[in-house]
Amino acid sequence: MTSWPQAIQDEQLCPYLQRKNEISIQDGCLLWGSRVIVPPQGRTLVLDILHETHPGVSRMKSLTCCYVWWPKLDQAIEDKVKSCEAYQLSQPLPVVASLHPWKFPKQAWSRLYIDFLGKTFLVVVDAFSKWLEVHVTSSTSSEATINKTLIAFRYAWVAAIPCQRQCYFLCQC
Ligand SMILES: [Zn+2]
Repeated sequence: MTSWPQAIQDEQLCPYLQRKNEISIQDGCLLWGSRVIVPPQGRTLVLDILHETHPGVSRMKSLTCCYVWWPKLDQAIEDKVKSCEAYQLSQPLPVVASLHPWKFPKQAWSRLYIDFLGKTFLVVVDAFSKWLEVHVTSSTSSEATINKTLIAFRYAWVAAIPCQRQCYFLCQC
């Protein structure tokens, strides 16, 4: 075939005929404008690559409109995204972790709870006696926290200091 036919019986070829003035061949690749016309055997792979980061339908369409095209591409994109969402929704939800409360300590000063109230106050609570100490601090750095916490250690050697939101005892040297 050296020229476009006037009419095509095969409906699947109609989209190509409609674009006949904008279709060209470059290095063996069929182009519609600057977009590569992907042959059927490569379309699934191209969709997979375009959907690697799970973009939505509109984002995928905007990506393809610069680089690739084939008939019914928009429908293929919609089907791809729908099938992915359907897959995600069909996956079992992660198992809910059960609460694991700390056992009540056997003696005072064996476990302390430590946290900052704003950036000014370091609050230390003994889990056994509920003894509360509040220390004024100038910093939430590990060094400042350790120095203030050592004051609470004057009663006994503390076995455990559970970290709450943030661990203040990491060296940041
Ligand atoms: Zn997805």
